[in-house]
Order: sequence, then structure tokens, then C-alpha cells
Amino acid sequence: MLSVISLQSDIQLGSITFGWRGRTLYREGHAGLSFLLFSPLMFLFRVLGADMNYVVATCVLMVALSSIPDLDIQFEIKHRGVTHTLVFGVVIGILFGILMGYSYESMGWLMGFVAGFGGTASHLVGDSFTYSKFQPFRPFSDKEIAFGFFKASNKTANGTMFVLGIVAFIISYEPSIVAQILGSAY
Ligand SMILES: [Zn+2]
Repeated sequence: MLSVISLQSDIQLGSITFGWRGRTLYREGHAGLSFLLFSPLMFLFRVLGADMNYVVATCVLMVALSSIPDLDIQFEIKHRGVTHTLVFGVVIGILFGILMGYSYESMGWLMGFVAGFGGTASHLVGDSFTYSKFQPFRPFSDKEIAFGFFKASNKTANGTMFVLGIVAFIISYEPSIVAQILGSAY
């Protein structure tokens, strides 16, 4: 399973590097949304005085895991089924919490959980913008979700989320950059 995960991450990072192509396009949307949703956490962790190296590593891991629910396509199980639930997010969070808890001394378990749960949850948020309905609250609720804002393959929507995510990441990592840009504009 780990090799599949790293393969997925490679493809994802590859698609970021090499631009917009076919089915990988949507991974860019998920990656952008993960960056975007992590930005408020970046501010929060900074205020709490956390080690920013840990925080950035957590963000990068969360972005890398943001397409993990779509492993259902690889394993040919029902698409947008069990892997598209918050419970699955908790399982992935615990899994990476244990994994990172062994690799890093102090906050590894927290990094792993935030990245695993956050990556899955942000994926569910992203999928909820599209048309194909799924049930993220199972087994507690059968409520189906799909807001139908745009198709999963919509280039403009995916590209916009990716760019917004990168911008939000840069600003939340280095807020003074905004002041610098505004300052140089005058
Ligand atoms: Zn999905």
C-alpha cells in the first residue's frame, strides 16, 4: 500500500511540475485546496509558537495525501464510496500519526494526524463542489453531498484552486511579503 501511496504522490508532484494534463488535472485542484485550507492553520501554529519546519512539513504531507481517497480507482472499489468518508480520514490520520510518531521525536504524531485527516477532509470538500454525489458522513448519516458548482474536470476551477492555494500558502508562511509587494507598488 505504501508503494501505491508514494506512486500517487509522485504522479501528483509530477503533475504540479509538468502542468495540466488529462485526469491528473483534478489532483492539482485538490492540492491547491489543501494549501488553501492549511493556511489558517499556518497562522494559528505561528501564533502558538510552533516550529515552522514541522508546520511546513505537515502542510506538504497533507497536500501529498490530498488525493488519497481516489485510491478507490486504483483498487477498483466503488468510486466515492468508503474512501470518501470522514471516518476514512480519521483512519488515515491515525495511520500517519503512528507512522510519523515513530519517525519524528516530539510532534510527529500530531503532524501525521493533521496531514492524514486534513488531506482526506480537504479532498471531500473539493469533491463536494462537483456533481457526483457521495456520502461523507457514513456510517453515522446517509446524507448525500454534491453542490454541483463545476465538473471535476473543469480546467478553470482546478487551475484557480491551485493558484489560490499557492498564494495563500506563501502569504500565510511569510505575511510580510504582502507589505513588501504593496510597498514596492508605490
Ligand atoms: Zn475523490
